[in-house]
Amino acid sequence: MDQCVNVERELEKVLQKFASYGQHCDRTLEELIEYTSGLKQEISQTGDRDVEFSGTLSLVLSQCCKRIKDTVQKLASDHKDIHSSVSRVGKAIDKNFDSDISSVGIEGCWQSESQRILSEVMVEHFFRQGMLDVAEELCQEAGLCIDPSQKEPFVELNRILEALRVRDLRPALEWAVANQEMLMAQKSSLEFKLHRLYFISLLMGGTANQKEALQYAKNFQPFAVNHQKDIQVLMGSLVYLQQGIENSPYVHLLDSNQWADICDIFTRDACALQGLSVESPLSVSFSAGCVALPALINIKAVIEQRQCTGVWNQKDELPIEVELGKKCWYHSVFACPILRQQTTDNNPPMKLVCGHIISRDALNKMISGSKLKCPYCPMEQVPGDGKQIYF
Ligand SMILES: [Zn+2]
Repeated sequence: MDQCVNVERELEKVLQKFASYGQHCDRTLEELIEYTSGLKQEISQTGDRDVEFSGTLSLVLSQCCKRIKDTVQKLASDHKDIHSSVSRVGKAIDKNFDSDISSVGIEGCWQSESQRILSEVMVEHFFRQGMLDVAEELCQEAGLCIDPSQKEPFVELNRILEALRVRDLRPALEWAVANQEMLMAQKSSLEFKLHRLYFISLLMGGTANQKEALQYAKNFQPFAVNHQKDIQVLMGSLVYLQQGIENSPYVHLLDSNQWADICDIFTRDACALQGLSVESPLSVSFSAGCVALPALINIKAVIEQRQCTGVWNQKDELPIEVELGKKCWYHSVFACPILRQQTTDNNPPMKLVCGHIISRDALNKMISGSKLKCPYCPMEQVPGDGKQIYF
């Protein structure tokens, strides 16, 4: 964080300089314009233009030209001074951040097959962001063949989200009604929340919408069991239509945060329905990488210093545990109590007959003859009776 603060400080300086330069520029130019237009008026008042300028006037004019030239030169040199501040920002970035992260890269990591997978993940990311043209361009350049059915859910998702952002509920409502059964099965409250927002938008129209609001309230009927309290509040607010909801105890119904919330709820439920993750896998990996990078660069330097380079050879495991924060917790992990290592696909956790769990490598190491003795209880058993555990 300190690094960001250092760079921000330099940026702040530049912005301040720009602002004061802008003001100074405006002021100086205004003065100059005032001066020249005053002079122009003076000349026009002296009478016939064809008459040659008197000596004094020529002097005044040449002084004016000099003043203009000097001012422009001064402004240009002031502008040059800002350049040095701008370049200081660049230097601050170089000084505070590592520009070379190649030391922690794995050799051959982006060859053929992985390169294709990376491109596919990027294409999916662009689909998610609604950047269809960029995604298609990348497909062409990378020679990828993406099934159109992969694109469709994102196109629809973005179309509905765009409408929601401008407070148009109709596309989302149509979608929710069309997928009603599946949403209900997921215990989603999306459809109710959309109807609720539509009802609130009617309330905002005052008494003119009273009849329509009452009619619309029929849509709440299927949700009466699960959202009784919410519906009561909505119906109660009708009493205040005349004086306006904004002047009533129901003013919280107009909270604009619920529009951001409905976008989140829609994204979450729509992704769940399509079997997609809520967040883009590319964004998740990228932000996890940003958190892990400083620790990885440090450990790499230590490994090189102590000349124990063999430590970082396993492809699917890092030499140290990097804490990524709760946001990156997706599933349970199991660390073998014997080998003190996290279990992997190649070395999965195994449940012994007695109920104790150790990793398969540990189990294999402890077989003596055709018997296995549990390191904890210690019950004797046949190694083949151990069962793999799935988290
Ligand atoms: Zn045991």
